[in-house]
Amino acid sequence: MRKFVYQFSEGSKEMKNLLGGKGANLAEMTNIGLPVPPGFTISTAACNDYTINNKHLSESIFEEVKIHLAELEKQTGKIFGFAENPLLVSVRSGAPFSMPGMMDTVLNLGLNDQATEGLANLTGDARSAYDSYRRFIQMFGDVVFEIPSYQFEQALSRIKKANNYRLDTELTATDLSKLIDVYKLIFNQATGTDFPQNPMEQLRLAIIAVFDSWMNPRAVIYRRLHDIDASFGTAVNIQAMVFGNTGETSGTGITFTRNPSTGEKKVFGEFLLNAQGEDVVAGIRTPEPISALEEKMPAVYNELIHTCELLENHYLDMQDIEFTIEKGKLYVLQTRSGKRTAKAAIQSAVDFVHEGKISRQEAIMRVETKQLHQLLHPTFDESALKKGQIIATGLPASPGAATGQIFFEAKEAVQAAERGIPVILVRNETSPEDIEGMAQSNAILTAHGGMTSHAAVVARGMGKCCIAGCAELTINEKEKTLLLPTGKMLHEGDSLSLDGSSGKVYLGEIALREAQIGGHFDELMAWADAEKKLIIRVNADTPVDFKKALLFGAEGIGLCRTEHMFFDEKRIPYVRQMILAESLSERESILATLKEMQKADFSELFRIADDRAVNIRLLDPPLHEFLPKTEQEIEQLASAMSRTVPQITKRINELREANPMLGHRGCRLAITFPEIYRMQTEAIIESAVTLHDEGIDVHPEIMIPLIATKSELSYIKKEMKQAIHTIFDRERVMLPYDIGTMIEIPRACVTADEIAEEAEFFSFGTNDLTQLTYGFSRDDATKFLADYYEKDILPKDPFVTIDKNGVGALVEMAVTRGRMTSEHLKMGVCGEHGGDPESIQFFHQLGLSYVSCSPYRVPIARLAAAQAALAEKQLVSTN
Ligand code: PEP
Ligand code: MG
Repeated sequence: MRKFVYQFSEGSKEMKNLLGGKGANLAEMTNIGLPVPPGFTISTAACNDYTINNKHLSESIFEEVKIHLAELEKQTGKIFGFAENPLLVSVRSGAPFSMPGMMDTVLNLGLNDQATEGLANLTGDARSAYDSYRRFIQMFGDVVFEIPSYQFEQALSRIKKANNYRLDTELTATDLSKLIDVYKLIFNQATGTDFPQNPMEQLRLAIIAVFDSWMNPRAVIYRRLHDIDASFGTAVNIQAMVFGNTGETSGTGITFTRNPSTGEKKVFGEFLLNAQGEDVVAGIRTPEPISALEEKMPAVYNELIHTCELLENHYLDMQDIEFTIEKGKLYVLQTRSGKRTAKAAIQSAVDFVHEGKISRQEAIMRVETKQLHQLLHPTFDESALKKGQIIATGLPASPGAATGQIFFEAKEAVQAAERGIPVILVRNETSPEDIEGMAQSNAILTAHGGMTSHAAVVARGMGKCCIAGCAELTINEKEKTLLLPTGKMLHEGDSLSLDGSSGKVYLGEIALREAQIGGHFDELMAWADAEKKLIIRVNADTPVDFKKALLFGAEGIGLCRTEHMFFDEKRIPYVRQMILAESLSERESILATLKEMQKADFSELFRIADDRAVNIRLLDPPLHEFLPKTEQEIEQLASAMSRTVPQITKRINELREANPMLGHRGCRLAITFPEIYRMQTEAIIESAVTLHDEGIDVHPEIMIPLIATKSELSYIKKEMKQAIHTIFDRERVMLPYDIGTMIEIPRACVTADEIAEEAEFFSFGTNDLTQLTYGFSRDDATKFLADYYEKDILPKDPFVTIDKNGVGALVEMAVTRGRMTSEHLKMGVCGEHGGDPESIQFFHQLGLSYVSCSPYRVPIARLAAAQAALAEKQLVSTN
C-alpha cells in the first residue's frame, strides 16, 4: 500500500518535496534530539491525491492518519477526544517552499466542551483551558468555515471594553467562558450548525481545509510572485500541542540566528509571555526583544541561544526558529531558512565563508539575484532629509527609503499604482489578503505588530521598505484617515516618506539619492566575477548611465541606442527636419549639424569606456516617435524649414504608418536614405580617430538594426566601408572596427548562416524578436497578457523572461547557423532579457559571449551569470 503519512522520526531534511519544508525540518530536529513535540506529517502526495480525487480525502489516507494518531497517544500518554486527559494537536500547512502566512493553521484541535473542562480539572488552570478553547473556535471557524475573524475579534473587544481591560491576558476564566458561548453563537449563525464536538471530525475537516488552502487566492498570488510551481501541493503537520498561554512562565516567540535586516551575527527575535503562536505574528500585542528573555528566564534563554547555534551549524544557514515555552520548558516548533533582506543575505553569506562554514560558490548561489534590487535602489538625500519633519517612529522592519501617497486599502493601493501613483500602503496591520496591495506599493506602514509581524516578514521578502508597529499613529481604515500625534489629520492621497532602516516617518515628499554599495557586496561580486563566463555589458546612451553602470561592474557598452541621443529638446527639431526633408541636399545639410553633435557624444562615451568595448547601434526609430504632434510643434517646424503649415502637415501624413513598429525603421531607413547611416558611421570613426590621437585606442562595434536578409546588410555595409576608408585615407590612419548586426527578426535567425557571411558579430534583440515571433505588439501586449496568466495560457511575460521553446529556439538556431559560417562569431544579447536571471542562464547555456542590460541590472546579471556557470558545473545545488 502506498504510504502517505510519516512519523517525524521517519523523515529528514532532504525530504522537503514529500513532507514540505516544515515537516522535513521537524523530522530533522527530532532526529538530532531537539525538544520537538511529537507528531507526524501527511505528505504532499496526499494533497495531490486529494486534488486528483475531486477534493475528496480518501478513507485509506484518513485511516493511516488514525494509526499515527494512536502512536501519538502512546508517545504523549494522552488520548484524543478523551475528556479526562485530552490529546490536543496543532494542524499546520507546510509546502515544499516557504510561503509565510499564506496558508492555514489550526491550533488546540481536539478541544470540545468536555475536553475543556477535563483539561481545566487536570491542570487546575481553568483560565488557560478556556483561553485555548476560544482560540480554537475562532481559528477553526476562520480556517475551515471561512467565518471572518473580525466577528470574533469584535466580540473579544466588547468584553474587554465592558471590563475596562487593556490586554487579552486580563480576561478571567469566567470572562473566557462567556466568550466561548458568544463564539459558539457566532459559529452557529455563520454555518447553521453547532460547533463540532467530535475531535475526529474536527481533524478531518481541518486536514481538508489545509489542503484547500494550497489553492486559496493569496497562496496563488504568492506563488505567482515567487515563481513557485503550483503542482507541488502542501503537506499537513499534526503535532501534539504545547501551551505558551499557561501563565507567566510560559510564552512563545520567534528568533533568527542572525539579524534578518542587516545580517549582523547576533541572535535576533522577540517573544510574548502567556501567549500562543499566532499572537506574535498577528501583531495584536507588541512583543518584547529576545534579550529581555535573558532576565526573565535565564536557563530557557541559554538553551534557546544554544539551540540557535546548533541549528545554524547543522543547516549552515541563517535559521528562523519558532519556539514555545510551557511552564519553563523550551520546545522548538519550527526551523527554516530565514527570509532576509538583500543586505543581510550578502553579509551572512560572506560571513559564513569567512567563518569557514561554506564555500564561495555556495555563497554565490545563496543570494537571490532578484533581491539585489533592494541594495541598488536609492536612499534619502541627506540634506533633504535634514529638513524633513519626523512625525512618528516605528520599528525599522525592512530597510530602504520610499516616498509616496498614502492609501488605506490594498485594492485602492493597487488601482493607484496602476495609475502610476507612487503608493504607501497604510494599515493597522496587514494580513495575507493584502499581498497584492503590498506588492504594488513602494512601502508599507503599520500601526501595530512587531519585527516578525506579517507586514515585516512579507515586506522583507519582497524587498520593500516597511515600518511596522508605529503606535503613535492612529489609523482609521474605514474613514481613510491617519491621525498624527500632533493632532493633524492626513487623508488618502497625502504624501509621506518612510525610512525603513531607521523606522522614521516623515511628512511630505523627500528627495531620494543613489544607493551606496561596497564592502560585503563588492566581495561577493568579485567571487561571482571569478566564476561567470558571460561578459556583462550595459545598454547605455548617456555618459551618466554609462558611468553608473561601470560602478556597478559593467564591462562595456552592449547597446547604445543612437535614436535616444536625439530625444533631447534641443536636438529633436533637427531630427524632425531631417525626417521631413524633401531633398537629399536639404537632408545632408541637417545631417552635417547632427554629425557634430553625434561626434561629441561618441567621443565622450569612448573616453569613459577607455579600452572597454562600445557597441553603437545606428538609427532605429519607429518614425512616429519623432514626428511633431501638437499644432505648436508643427508651426515651429514650418518656420524653421521655411515651409507652410499645410506643407508640413501633408508631409507628416505621407509619412504616417499604420504599423510603425513594422514600418520604415531600422536598416530600412538606410536603404531609402543611405546618407543617414553614412553620417553616423563618419561620426563614430572620426571620433575614434580623435581619441586615437589622444592616445586612447578604441575598437568600435557598429551595429545595424532590423536586418532580415543578407542583401540588406551587404548593401549597407558597402556604403559604410566606403565612408570609413575615405576617412582613413584622409587621416592616414587605420583603426580596428567591426560591423555587425542585430538579430531580431525571425527571418534573420533562420538565415543566420547567410547573414554571418557579412556580419562580424550578432547581437540578439530579443525585444523585437519576441514581438515578431509571437506577433504580440511590444507596446500593447500588457493590456491583454494579464488574461493569459490568469487563464494559465502563458506562465509569464515573454518580454521579461525568454520563451525558451519559441523565441529561445530561434536564438539557438541562429547561434548554430551563425557558427556554421563563422566558428568564432562574437554573439551577445541586448534585449531586456539580458538582465533577467532565468534568461541569462539560458544564454549561458547557449555559449553566448555577453549579455547587455540596463545599469541597475548589471550586478544582477553578474550574479546570475555566475550562478548559471556554477549550476552547470553542478558544484552546488541551486537553493
Ligand atoms: C531589441 O529589439 O531587443 C532591442 C534591443 O532593440 P530595441 O529595444 O531598441 O528595439
Ligand atoms: Mg529592436
